Amino acid sequence: MTKPNQATAPLLEVDALSVDYGLKGVPLRAIEDVSFTLCAGEAVGLVGESGSGKTTTALSIAGLLPPNAGVSSGEVRYRGKRLPISDDAAMRSHRWSEISFVFQGAMNALNPVHRVVKQIAEPCMLKRGMARDEAAARARELLELVGIPADRGSAFPHELSGGMRQRVMIAMALACCPSIIIGDEPTTALDVITQAQILKLLGKLRSQLNLAIILITHDLSVVAESCDRAMIMYAGRIVEDGLVADVFAEPKHPYTKLLIESIPNPAKGKHILRPIPGDPPTLVNRPSGCSFRSRCPSAIQVCATEDPRLDLAGRGRVACHLHRSLTQERTVAADA
Ligand code: ATP
Ligand code: SF4
Ligand code: MG
Repeated sequence: MTKPNQATAPLLEVDALSVDYGLKGVPLRAIEDVSFTLCAGEAVGLVGESGSGKTTTALSIAGLLPPNAGVSSGEVRYRGKRLPISDDAAMRSHRWSEISFVFQGAMNALNPVHRVVKQIAEPCMLKRGMARDEAAARARELLELVGIPADRGSAFPHELSGGMRQRVMIAMALACCPSIIIGDEPTTALDVITQAQILKLLGKLRSQLNLAIILITHDLSVVAESCDRAMIMYAGRIVEDGLVADVFAEPKHPYTKLLIESIPNPAKGKHILRPIPGDPPTLVNRPSGCSFRSRCPSAIQVCATEDPRLDLAGRGRVACHLHRSLTQERTVAADA
């Protein structure tokens, strides 16, 4: 896969984004102070347990939050310009043509009564002003691009396999030539072989079209295979962000370490997934201090009272007091 050009300005900047869901009139913080950048052609994996805030992050970037949610602070910039993420109508000119989506479960996202070629052609007509015939030709071209023979475009969604339907979703996402695709668990509902094919397809499209990809998944091994960077989310915050090679060789956050250890590795005699003991906090029972404290084997006293900030650490970032004290010790030793 091609490497992103880190020297260029980021395509996307997510800056201190916090989002609340209103439940019975009470605002509950779902994501807090989420900040990251994405460069052209870069693939970033967003990983974390269920409820950690991955989808909320993706929906807020797209301005697609549900009515009971609100951006309480922060902003998102695309090519340096602030996106109107709280204004659904204003965001329409950015969705599809700049930032596009592939969601889990294509069967629910596709219209069962329309042929797939028509569904891919629709955004071409609506967003790019193409005439019907031109849009249909573009749709057939897109089908070929995602590895589906153009004549299969006349099929209805139920006449295609799960993998083919997900390819159709990718074709739709590409219809208006976006530079960013956000895939929210795009392969979760698929068997492992089809999952590998879809990930390979995304990798191919990425280098062919210089696409930037945010890949949301529960599965760290998917990120290892398909991404340049891994961002680990826990209880609504990014707790570690680094190059995939660094994160796997030397994970800094205790949660990342446990996530990596939980992955089955037959070569090391680990044949089954070993879940991390304990449960993440819910929105209503966020503890004081570090949210990971009750499950952390390395917790120290300060973890009970102070929420660790996401700080620079080597080539990446980490939010953990242990790491901060190590960094401070090293700085003091270097100064002495
Ligand atoms: P999963 O891996 O299960 O998809 P996720 O990491 O995508 O989880 P989110 O869906 O972003 O997590 O949810 C973050 C938090 O916000 C969770 O506690 C969830 O229960 C809550 N939440 C999500 N959607 C809503 C909603 N519409 N109303 C209220 N709370 C919500
Ligand atoms: Fe564990 Fe403390 Fe680090 Fe949180 S801040 S991950 S509790 S060591
Ligand atoms: Mg989700």
